[in-house]
Amino acid sequence: MKSTSAQLEADVLIIGGGPAGIQAARLLRSSQPDWRVAVVRPEDFSMVYCAIPYAIEGLFPLEKTLKKDDLLTGVGAELIRGAISRVDTKGHRAELQDGRSISYRKLLVATGAIPVKPPLPGMNGENVFTVKTEADARRIIARLALNAGCESDGSDSSPKQPAQKAIVIGAGAIGIEQATAYRAHKLEVHLVEMQDHVLPHLIDADMAAPIHQELEDLGIHLHLNTRLESLVGEPAVTGVCLAGEETISLDPKRDFVVVSVGMRPDIDFLGEDNFDRVADGLVVDEHMRTSVPDVWAAGDCVAYKSGIDGQALGGKLATNAVPMAKVAAKDMLGMAAAYPGFFNGAATVAGSLRIGGTGFTETFARSRGLQVASTEASTTARFPMMPAAGHVKIKLVIEEGSERIIGGQVVGTEAVAERIDLLTFAIQRGATASDLAELSYAAQPWQTFFPARNAIVEAAASVSSLSKAS
Ligand SMILES: Cc1cc2nc3c(=O)[nH]c(=O)nc-3n(C[C@H](O)[C@H](O)[C@H](O)COP(=O)(O)OP(=O)(O)OC[C@H]3O[C@@H](n4cnc5c(N)ncnc54)[C@H](O)[C@@H]3O)c2cc1C
Repeated sequence: MKSTSAQLEADVLIIGGGPAGIQAARLLRSSQPDWRVAVVRPEDFSMVYCAIPYAIEGLFPLEKTLKKDDLLTGVGAELIRGAISRVDTKGHRAELQDGRSISYRKLLVATGAIPVKPPLPGMNGENVFTVKTEADARRIIARLALNAGCESDGSDSSPKQPAQKAIVIGAGAIGIEQATAYRAHKLEVHLVEMQDHVLPHLIDADMAAPIHQELEDLGIHLHLNTRLESLVGEPAVTGVCLAGEETISLDPKRDFVVVSVGMRPDIDFLGEDNFDRVADGLVVDEHMRTSVPDVWAAGDCVAYKSGIDGQALGGKLATNAVPMAKVAAKDMLGMAAAYPGFFNGAATVAGSLRIGGTGFTETFARSRGLQVASTEASTTARFPMMPAAGHVKIKLVIEEGSERIIGGQVVGTEAVAERIDLLTFAIQRGATASDLAELSYAAQPWQTFFPARNAIVEAAASVSSLSKAS
């Protein structure tokens, strides 16, 4: 990359050093070693966000979640610390907050998303946190450090007494992982969810009962069907008002509230210019091209469509950001690439339970106007005679008529992610229940279902035999 003191030049400028930015930079540099690829990010380090809950729980130091810069510099990409404050798309130039500017031939916007705080009273309280950045994680860890027997660091913001209570608003995967991490520090934890069950984007209500039980067994107070009305107290919150319930009191010096109700695209710095955008992010085509010439976008800052029905769908996951970035980079390189859409295979953990979902839940499919049926099967995760053979329950969501698999959910005591990946692949390839009923699979006592009781095959077979009988 050529540079004078305040003027930098790049063939490709990537704004954002998360999974999308890193992936695109690596692919571009490995395919075109002559291209000058610059990545701008404000943080000292990129992070593995998915691992934050486990650092907060105390399984390892937060430093282990920080990625090494040589992911970028090792492939010859230039890393620039700073934040882009403005992009002149006609002049092919981006300005950094510190006054430097970077000219580019091609631009990738990969600025991710930031946590949403609902517009309710008290959200700016000193002890109201979100979970995304290293700073967010450090604020929470500072509150928990004393519980783990660590000393306060003595700074004004550092609490002097151990936290006793945490209120988590939103029971998606981030909320559940935070709630369980705080319980590991023996806090009184309240998990508040507006819907009638946890993980409403991942699973249907009929799959949630064991998760509710597990969370309650862990000692977490679950508030389902419950809306947050306001947070009271200034400058720190002293009470959490939930609709129809008594206010939960907090010690403002010790206790805290975590808001995990969703993410919004981090694209305000682009201003109100010529980019097509919607609330969920920048509008892109299947090659990840924005409406502006020579500008691509990928990852959480993008609004895209479902791979199942082609309609708009949220998909703010690292597992979507990475393939989107590959498509954007390939398109910049002139290679054929198109992004099919989100399938949203994802998994989480609640105590001893592993939970995964992919495609549409039954409830969501109906809300999109699809006629669907569902089927379930339940069996031991290992051969039944093996020690500690826990149970797994599988639910398939199937489009009526076509018999196409459009969703899958797995709840059990053992790894569910591979099963979710298999179901995602079935959905991606348009497989029907009959196709899945004929799945050829492996069996081994420690690792798999009993050969005659593969739950995925059982669930699929019950649908295909029903439809054949009718
Ligand atoms: C706690 C937590 C747990 C998660 N767990 C999972 C999981 O288990 N599985 C999963 O698939 N996903 C998970 N996710 C989501 C996943 O982390 C995101 O989908 C992914 O990071 C998106 O990647 P990205 O590159 O698009 O954006 P980001 O990772 O958000 O990176 C965007 C980058 O752009 C930078 N940036 C923003 N504005 C500017 C600017 N103006 N100038 C320069 N740089 C800028 C940001 O600072 C950041 O470095 C989790 C997220 C969180 C917060």
